[in-house]
Amino acid sequence: MGKYFYTDGKEKYGPYSIEELRIQPISRTTKVWCYGMDKWTELSQVAELSNVLNSIPPEINTTPSIGKESSAVEPKTEAEPIHKVEPKTQPSKEIKKSSTFSKWVIAIIVVIIISLFGYAVIQNQSEVNQYNEIVANSYDSDEDFDIYVQKFYRDLEFYGIFPKKPKVQIIKFSKLDQLDNTTHIHGLSFGSGDDDRIEIYINPSTWKQFNKPMRYFLMYHELAHDVLNLDDLEPKSWNEGKLMYPAISSYENKNMDDFIESAHALFEEQSE
Ligand SMILES: [Zn+2]
Repeated sequence: MGKYFYTDGKEKYGPYSIEELRIQPISRTTKVWCYGMDKWTELSQVAELSNVLNSIPPEINTTPSIGKESSAVEPKTEAEPIHKVEPKTQPSKEIKKSSTFSKWVIAIIVVIIISLFGYAVIQNQSEVNQYNEIVANSYDSDEDFDIYVQKFYRDLEFYGIFPKKPKVQIIKFSKLDQLDNTTHIHGLSFGSGDDDRIEIYINPSTWKQFNKPMRYFLMYHELAHDVLNLDDLEPKSWNEGKLMYPAISSYENKNMDDFIESAHALFEEQSE
């Protein structure tokens, strides 16, 4: 049995007997040489050293490494895959960025929704306040508004329209001059959408100022809002003369025939 040298690639160590070599910091790929060998040879390729080879645990990775450094190299080669994976982690960073971006978008949308909701609440609150004020200032009059309602229902029946007879019928005077919405400065309906309720407030100053056809126009207009749930038409010239035209105060020169024509045109439209 010869004596062996081993090398870490820089220095050579030895000579060692096989028993001495066994306890050296060598690996299966460490190159060894002994007298008679023509070149440095990997330990695993030397038949005489098979016992030494079997006493060394196999390498965890396949990267060739030498002597003591093998253990030092291992963590570096462990770390390498992480660098190789980086191109894959790069897009995930972009995903993180875009998810941050979408979080901001969601946050902004939420703020907008809350703002709109808040605005709607304020608007609704001001409408409630306005309604409360109108109701608080309302009063019964000597005016028999019921004849307009009776006639309205009779006309509807004539056109084959049979709306539910509401349980509650409130038609009162209330000052509406303070309203911002000039469309309803003459009259306001609050029973729209509620089949069991007619609730109409008429501006007393309007009533005093309006002639008979205009009063009919106004009452039918408000009843159409309330009972038929109809909306105002656009204040455009082509809607002038119609019952749901919002500027009824301009109907000064209209007579009862004009009113009847307008009312019947609307009912005919509704009966279709
Ligand atoms: Zn109206």
